[in-house]
Amino acid sequence: MTARRFRKLLIANRGEIACRIVRTARAMGYRTVAVFSDADADAMHTRAADEAVRIGPSPPRESYLDIARILDAAKKTGADAIHPGYGFLAENADFAEACEAAGLVFVGPPARVIRAMGDKAAAKAIAEAAGLPCVPGYRGEDQADARLTAEAAAIGFPLLVKAVAGGGGRGIRAVHAAAELPDALAAAQREAKAAFGDDRLMLERLIERPRHLEVQIFGDDHGNVVHLFERDCSTQRRRQKIIEEAPSPVLTPAHRERLTGYAVALAQAAGYRNAGTVEFIADADLTFYFLEMNTRLQVEHPVTEMVVGVDLVDWQLRVAAGEPLPLRQDEIAMRGHAIEARLCAEDPYDGFRPQAGTVIHFAPQERGGIRFDTGVETGSEVSPWYDSMVAKAIAGGRDRLEATRRLASALEDAPLLGLATNREFLVALLRGEAFDRAEIATTTLDDWAQTAAHDAASPFARPRPSPTDWALAAALSAERGGGAGEWFWSGSAFDFSLDLTCGGETKRLTYTRRRSGPLAVAVDGERIEIALIENAPPRIVFEADGVRRRAAAAWQGATLHLAVDDAAFAFAEPDHAHADDAADGARIAAPVAGLLVKVLAEPGQAVAAGDTLAIIEAMKMETRVTALASGRIAAVHATAGAQVASGALLFEIETEDAPADVR
Ligand code: ADP
Ligand code: ADP
Ligand code: MG
Repeated sequence: MTARRFRKLLIANRGEIACRIVRTARAMGYRTVAVFSDADADAMHTRAADEAVRIGPSPPRESYLDIARILDAAKKTGADAIHPGYGFLAENADFAEACEAAGLVFVGPPARVIRAMGDKAAAKAIAEAAGLPCVPGYRGEDQADARLTAEAAAIGFPLLVKAVAGGGGRGIRAVHAAAELPDALAAAQREAKAAFGDDRLMLERLIERPRHLEVQIFGDDHGNVVHLFERDCSTQRRRQKIIEEAPSPVLTPAHRERLTGYAVALAQAAGYRNAGTVEFIADADLTFYFLEMNTRLQVEHPVTEMVVGVDLVDWQLRVAAGEPLPLRQDEIAMRGHAIEARLCAEDPYDGFRPQAGTVIHFAPQERGGIRFDTGVETGSEVSPWYDSMVAKAIAGGRDRLEATRRLASALEDAPLLGLATNREFLVALLRGEAFDRAEIATTTLDDWAQTAAHDAASPFARPRPSPTDWALAAALSAERGGGAGEWFWSGSAFDFSLDLTCGGETKRLTYTRRRSGPLAVAVDGERIEIALIENAPPRIVFEADGVRRRAAAAWQGATLHLAVDDAAFAFAEPDHAHADDAADGARIAAPVAGLLVKVLAEPGQAVAAGDTLAIIEAMKMETRVTALASGRIAAVHATAGAQVASGALLFEIETEDAPADVR
């Protein structure tokens, strides 16, 4: 076989996978090229490679899915090989063909294999011929409603309607009775047409409470095909994986031999080259059914890397260069256990709604048995244009229990502040009984979401700040604002009160300030002593009830993002949450940290509610500081040109209806 030498690799992807591919390519001595859309101009992957080329506006169609622009970027930089990553163009046969036609090495299987496997119906025909069991169903060309309806009746209910060209869990509908079929067909057709430009459907018997099992395979140009064992990806939400592991906790060696045998048989029948994954579902009796073959590197490939001790991207690049596979089948073994969790910018307590925004703190640490593959860091923007997955945490251990424990701890130690993520949800899942007993099937989480949302033991119960969390937030706010709330002399010390809002709940917190010693905060009548040992955001060390603990905190304007244990919360003073109502009656504080560009009020001046007293510039925006009540300016603590902290006292107003006990 002729060698296909290359020296510069363009990665036609973004996020964590682009960063991960760069890491291996660089270690192998290849030069690297990133491509980026406008939304990703400052993204981590854009800065990870040796060179980067802008390929267009933010919408994927105009950038990461635009074949001509990507080939153009390769030409411009002299890249002679392309790695497609996963998603986007990874399973696009036209793209693989266009790369070859342009004289570029495509890091993946031949275009004809991608094309054959991209059609779920055609793939099942090849699989059946190779002796793989398939879920009984209809995979015919005749798409007339009458035919689909008759075939559905023959299969029986419940069944699944699937897009022949589907992927990423989309274009799939469960149908439980004949009456639901017409709507399900119409909806699946619409979704398939919109997502894949192909509205052909197939029908399959629904396997109840199945496990998702898949086999990593690899082929080269020298006639070798090997498997690298299985991954169990049964922990899914909405048919998308969120936790994956190897080995599967349910397979016996005999099952494993049968499953991997099927996968190798299919790869051989398909004339497979490079990395691929053969997906199966298994029913309760561990009867296997072939689902589909993914002709690319899989999101969850790191768990295989950890248990087998190989670098699959290194293998991909070697095979793409025409080299033989580095190991023979009898040299490939699994050791220990590995589990991956997908960290997504989404709100599990609100239907997994994706979240966009700025990452104000994220600095995961790798350590023994822990790997993080991440596409974001402190300062990154999570844009609404792409997938919500921002990072993956992978833990290995001698056994499943150790890997699980390590993964939960690693996630707990890696707070992402600034936007909601599924981190707490993942930790709760990993520490829950169902995961421990390996009882989670692909439909389990969706079932729980329906029924157990109000059960406090369910991972779907939204975490609430504990009284100590409220007290800590009050202490940090007090420290920063220097007593921005109301304060009063209580005889022996100054008592302050502060309103804080978190997750729609507002609490009035009162605390006593002494010259030294801990702050005593009253939360719902409970007295909590909080001492701030270290207050250097993001690093916080505090002592409560005789225990010293760590937390992570970051201020974003007047909002305090605080992570304690596995949970993260955003606290704000209700009056300070919005720029326009930054005043608290008589005492007006800075609503955001920034530069005081104008001070408009003088001592003695009469002001009316709503009058602008000062202007602060922050985050490239001007924020007005306004009077909330009418009265006379009693004191001005603001100087134009000064930098102010959020919550800093700027003005005091002698209000017309000032309560007698103020001062
Ligand atoms: P894996 O088994 O590796 O998780 P998925 O099928 O979930 O593979 O897809 C991998 C990634 O590609 C995910 O981020 C998914 O959202 C995305 N993806 C898969 N298919 C498509 C598609 N047809 N269009 C857009 N994104 C897709
Ligand atoms: P995609 O290309 O979108 O990944 P798959 O065919 O791989 O589509 O199916 C995605 C998921 O849907 C599987 O992991 C499994 O959870 C579920 N699924 C697919 N087919 C069936 C079936 N016949 N019965 C039950 N669940 C299924
Ligand atoms: Mg799949």
